[in-house]
Amino acid sequence: MEQAQVRNDWTLSEVKALFNMPFNDLLFQAASVHRQNFNPNKVQISTLLSIKTGACPEDCKYCPQSGHYKTDLERERLMEVEKVVEQARIAKSKGATRFCMGAAWSDPKDRDMPYIEKMVKEVKELGLETCMTLGMLDNDKAHALRDAGLDYYNHNLDTSPEYYQQIITTRTYQDRLDTLDHVRDAGMKVCSGGIVGMGEEAKDRYGLLMQLANLPKQPESVPINMLVKVKGTPLENVDDLDHFEFIRTIAVARIMMPKSYVRLSAGRTAMNEQMQSMCFFAGANSIFYGDKLLTTDNPEADSDMMLIKKLGMSPESVEDYSDEAYAASLESAIADKETSELFYPA
Ligand code: SF4
Repeated sequence: MEQAQVRNDWTLSEVKALFNMPFNDLLFQAASVHRQNFNPNKVQISTLLSIKTGACPEDCKYCPQSGHYKTDLERERLMEVEKVVEQARIAKSKGATRFCMGAAWSDPKDRDMPYIEKMVKEVKELGLETCMTLGMLDNDKAHALRDAGLDYYNHNLDTSPEYYQQIITTRTYQDRLDTLDHVRDAGMKVCSGGIVGMGEEAKDRYGLLMQLANLPKQPESVPINMLVKVKGTPLENVDDLDHFEFIRTIAVARIMMPKSYVRLSAGRTAMNEQMQSMCFFAGANSIFYGDKLLTTDNPEADSDMMLIKKLGMSPESVEDYSDEAYAASLESAIADKETSELFYPA
């Protein structure tokens, strides 16, 4: 098979044709592209911590953190820097190479920036890659975060431009694209993906992947989330998405964005090991590790390690991640279940 090229000119009919290939042909093509660009037996592991939970002014209809909906989620103020760094240290000892910090904000305010910058510096000093998701960013704040040492910024496009208005009304699709531009201009890496299973049509899944792949530079990291239906949110009763359609979405993302990390993100709790394994085969090569994925259940950290081992895979390292370090982190993950509770948002 000829080497897959990174292309930024995908058309809707091309994406539709990929989605509608016979399942085995699609998976074979995606797995081949994956092998050309990555070690298929390595998985990048990130840990996500909610540093400020709930009461968000935005109205994203899937999100329990939105202040517009009444859910069981407990609100929490911005965490102290020391607590964040402590959790980052634990995450590292358990094999995470990237530490993602998320705050339920529309955008970070000037008064928050000194804390945020300090957090980035101190987490980075532990030898972890740093990622943040704080909402919209203007140019100045993007540069300030870059100067503090932030490696990645997460800002999802969520869905297609056409379906977007059904999901969020408090900010526009263009606002999101502008934030991604500012992140790029500042020289940070982009983490951007979306959520499927929100009641969208197939063409919206095509549209989402087309938007991501056709950005001036494709995101380095592409989280694909399966909606986690949370009681109290407007999408709590939406129909389930067929699991094969989810696997197809992963496979098409892998083909269209051959050099990006495709992350199996929220919604893994509803997937059994076989389904997750098929997602890895289809080209997913990054997962979140930890008991909570922001505010929704995530498979237990140790069961993640068990699955990775069962499949003969191993975590990817930032630099000198030796087999012994992996073995040690695996053992500590298995033996030390109690500390995993520290991953719950404080
Ligand atoms: S997804 Fe983010 S911006 Fe939207 S409501 Fe939730 S925390 Fe706020």
